[in-house]
Amino acid sequence: MIFEAEDFDDHEQTVFFCDADSGLKAIIAIHSTALGPAAGGCRFYPYANEQDAVRDVLRLSKGMTLKNAMAGLPLGGGKAVIIADPVAGKSPALMQAMGRAVEKLGGQFITGEDVGTSAKDMVEIRKETSHVLGLPVNEGGSGDPSPSTARGVLEGIKAAAKHRLHKDTLEGLTIAVQGLGHVGSTLAGLLAEEGVKLIVCDMNETAVEWAGSDLGAQAVPSEVIYDAEADIFAPCAMGAILNANTIPRLKASIVAGAANNQLATAADGAALRERSILYAPDYVINAGGIIQLSAERTGETEEAVMARLRAIGGTLTAIFEAAGMQELPTSEAADRIAAQRILAANSAV
Ligand code: NAD
Repeated sequence: MIFEAEDFDDHEQTVFFCDADSGLKAIIAIHSTALGPAAGGCRFYPYANEQDAVRDVLRLSKGMTLKNAMAGLPLGGGKAVIIADPVAGKSPALMQAMGRAVEKLGGQFITGEDVGTSAKDMVEIRKETSHVLGLPVNEGGSGDPSPSTARGVLEGIKAAAKHRLHKDTLEGLTIAVQGLGHVGSTLAGLLAEEGVKLIVCDMNETAVEWAGSDLGAQAVPSEVIYDAEADIFAPCAMGAILNANTIPRLKASIVAGAANNQLATAADGAALRERSILYAPDYVINAGGIIQLSAERTGETEEAVMARLRAIGGTLTAIFEAAGMQELPTSEAADRIAAQRILAANSAV
């Protein structure tokens, strides 16, 4: 039941792979190749059932089409999911079987790291296919993409602060960072360098202690980060955190952070607009990682990557302005611009 699935959006291909010897059960969805080969990470997750995995791969692959289009990359959108427990169910043989699955698509799909997979897993995939990005530096890759994601988010925060608060610098602003993992901790460090007052939360006490001692951050319990007296809220942990419960609590007038799928539903984009909260669409502001990975493939220089990261700010400003003129939620304005880019590429073929 793919064609009738709620999240089906004219995906070009949805392919199921099974490798009995290694136990691999995987789905690869190619949403669009209009702008180039479909690129998207390989998620390793113990889905409760097959429907959940299908829903995730359809939704995430479409998200990659939008993200790559808005970042101006020569890539379409796709995603892979492996249905298994990443702790108990992973083996080199299984990741190599995943590599063979990717290889069978003949370069229409390029994968990389995602939730539950690491650069080490990409090395196993690489044994069977060249269509993989995100390898460690000593294996010819560009290493962890999180610092690039954080840098792009910083550019996005600056653009949002300029647009909403008319501030040329972030100095003196208070920013609440939810999650101090790979991206959140780097972002917090960059924000501290800009003279920002930080409010942070994470269940990982070591990360919170580090932010307190090294960055002078104020720690709050995770449940109350939405109520923080901050100018900007930067979600850098999980998705669906902008919802009917949290949006009314926000004190910040800007939401700009790295987390994927921040809006629980499309209506939450409108709810933010009703509260006059400027939302930086997640797939635009968090494109730094895929920008770095794309450069692994195209051979772009570090300077070119930095220019693309800086351009995230300009792209967001254009979205904010379009949303203002068309009286739309920024999330919808971004979707429309991305759709136009894809349509233009399709009609140019
Ligand atoms: P991570 O797993 O390294 O960090 C997530 C952090 O959030 C962890 O420290 C975790 O303890 C914390 N966390 C989880 N639930 C929380 C809660 N309820 N309250 C507070 N903290 C909580 O992940 P990451 O790579 O830093 O990615 C963060 C987000 O950004 C994710 O949504 C990810 O999909 C998205 N993203 C990451 C990248 C990248 O380059 N890593 C790129 C694009 C988008």
